[in-house]
Amino acid sequence: MYEETYDIAIVGAGHAGCEAALACARLGLKTIVFTVSVNSIALMPCNPSVGGSSKGHLVRELDALGGEMGKNIDKTFIQSKMLNRSKGPAVHSLRAQADKAEYSKTMRQVLENQENLTIKQAEVSELILNKNNEACGVKIYTGCVYNTKAVVLCTGTYLRARCLCGEAITYTGPNGLQAANHLTESLEKAGIELVRFKTGTPARMDGRTVDYSKMTEQSGDERIVPFSFSTDPELIQKEQVKCYLTYTNEKTHEIIRNNLDRSPIYAGIIEGTGPRYCPSIEDKVVRFADKERHQLFIEPEGLSTNEVYIGGMSSSMPEDVQIEMYRTVPGLENCKIVRNAYAIEYDCINPRQLYPTLEFKKIKNLFAGGQFNGSSGYEEAAAQGLIAGINAAMSVLGKEKIIIDRSQGYIGVLIDDLVTKENHEPYRMMTSRAEYRLLLRQDNADLRLRKTGYEVGLVSKEEYEKVLLKEKQINEEIERLKNTYVGTSKKVTDFLTANNSTGLKSGSSLYELISRPELDYYLIAPIDSERIDLPEDIREQVNINIKYAGYIDKQIRQVEAFKKMEEKKIPNDLDYNEISGLRLEARQKLITYSPVSIGQASRISGVSPADISVLLVYLKTKYSESVIK
Ligand SMILES: Cc1cc2nc3c(=O)[nH]c(=O)nc-3n(C[C@H](O)[C@H](O)[C@H](O)COP(=O)(O)OP(=O)(O)OC[C@H]3O[C@@H](n4cnc5c(N)ncnc54)[C@H](O)[C@@H]3O)c2cc1C
Repeated sequence: MYEETYDIAIVGAGHAGCEAALACARLGLKTIVFTVSVNSIALMPCNPSVGGSSKGHLVRELDALGGEMGKNIDKTFIQSKMLNRSKGPAVHSLRAQADKAEYSKTMRQVLENQENLTIKQAEVSELILNKNNEACGVKIYTGCVYNTKAVVLCTGTYLRARCLCGEAITYTGPNGLQAANHLTESLEKAGIELVRFKTGTPARMDGRTVDYSKMTEQSGDERIVPFSFSTDPELIQKEQVKCYLTYTNEKTHEIIRNNLDRSPIYAGIIEGTGPRYCPSIEDKVVRFADKERHQLFIEPEGLSTNEVYIGGMSSSMPEDVQIEMYRTVPGLENCKIVRNAYAIEYDCINPRQLYPTLEFKKIKNLFAGGQFNGSSGYEEAAAQGLIAGINAAMSVLGKEKIIIDRSQGYIGVLIDDLVTKENHEPYRMMTSRAEYRLLLRQDNADLRLRKTGYEVGLVSKEEYEKVLLKEKQINEEIERLKNTYVGTSKKVTDFLTANNSTGLKSGSSLYELISRPELDYYLIAPIDSERIDLPEDIREQVNINIKYAGYIDKQIRQVEAFKKMEEKKIPNDLDYNEISGLRLEARQKLITYSPVSIGQASRISGVSPADISVLLVYLKTKYSESVIK
């Protein structure tokens, strides 16, 4: 049979696979990426948007590390909005509506023009392991073999996929694309544990049949903020499309209740577990029976199509029920369905089989990213794909793999939750999952992660130096405000009165004034005569760091305590059966999860603080300080 040799093989060119492939090729490794259809590169089979609450954070962090998604959406968005502006900066999140076709086409062009990268349309049917149980290649359905030094699995929603629309079941991937039906068996033979998950999507309507006059218009921001720290904001200010808001009603809910027996979910036909935080409309009607209406977000799929996406109404009801239920919605009375809503089931892994580097614990040089790891969402997928790609490259280059921890980024929270917590459904990121979210804001992702991207080799020296300069300017401006005092002059007194702020009895630093709830860095400009004109992103940092100084300091202290526990490493050959005093449940969980640190061990459910103390004592007696640290 024909054989070829590469450094790394990426199975999948979805949001995870694209990031993994680009990272490996950009780090100089000969990389091949497989997809069942080159037309599905970076396909958006569900919502036509990137970002949103907490997902915007992931995209910014991915961009800071040298990933592609942020740049790609800045080139292909059709509407952009900063969400939660009325709330604190920790939950500000960018969300951009994408032109789906352009998003996929543009990402494909980036991959096609990437040095060291080969794209292959073929179904990978087998994982090849060497005698040391290390990943060393893949075989495709034709029998051809691709020898490599590492493999990254990013198969998304395609493994043994089946799509359900009422009683109609098709054994395809999303959008009728070919499913990947052969690899699962090979992975199970390799001892990989697979689970069955499901997700769903709403119908797409012909926009010409939608009456927008019955809906509420939703516009983008006047001043557009880019996702990528490398995008010049001046270059992306443009006309934007509208989205629309409408609601279901009691008539919609009645039709659904009357047909629950025909829903594959409620008829028990669907085996896979779905995302609680992305429920189908059937689930919403059943679980929130008291709610009179559910919000729907009507989103255009692109500029070169009339298709519109009915956000908030995903379903797997039979087509006749779909037509009836959608037409009860104000504005959709005469709608024509272009694509039916459907649910998709697919194989993915239980991610506890992975280290926080996203390498399999039992199979060296095999990495995994995206929906295949039990997550849900383009952004979650892309973030994991980048980390899995970087670490596969580090493994081939013989360099240290990277772990982003919970105090460094949402990417760290995402991966740690996946590999440490019990996930019985597709994992979706939320700001509430990030305990250090005041430090992990979307506005400072570059200050947190550019250094790591530079050290890995994905961020240029120029980009890194830009951040170092930004950091310096922020600190200098804060120092200046701490050491710049204003007195009780008429100008200052009038200014304070005009801003309903208490007058001064004696001098005060500008820093102190900014800390007042009713004032901020922008407002005090008239009484800050020495101020130089700094870029908006620096002014934003200065303002946030002063306004939230107390909370930020408190979180920094919490992170220091967290880091201490993370630094206490657990040797991966530790035999938990040897440790007396550990409770049975804890022993079993520690064996199953084999945590890399005391910090990770303490987050495993079923492992109590008492168990952690027993473990710490044992490690101290058994291993020298240097091993544990
Ligand atoms: C119907 C549907 C509804 C969804 N609903 C939501 C939702 O409501 N909310 C949400 O957040 N996310 C939703 N998603 C999920 C979202 O699409 C995914 O999270 C995202 O696309 C995952 O990206 P990925 O890169 O992991 O996988 P995908 O984007 O699925 O890409 C997988 C890639 O792997 C390739 N591939 C797979 N197996 C093989 C093989 N053996 N050989 C070669 N190539 C292979 C495919 O060709 C494809 O390129 C939905 C997805 C679908 C399909």
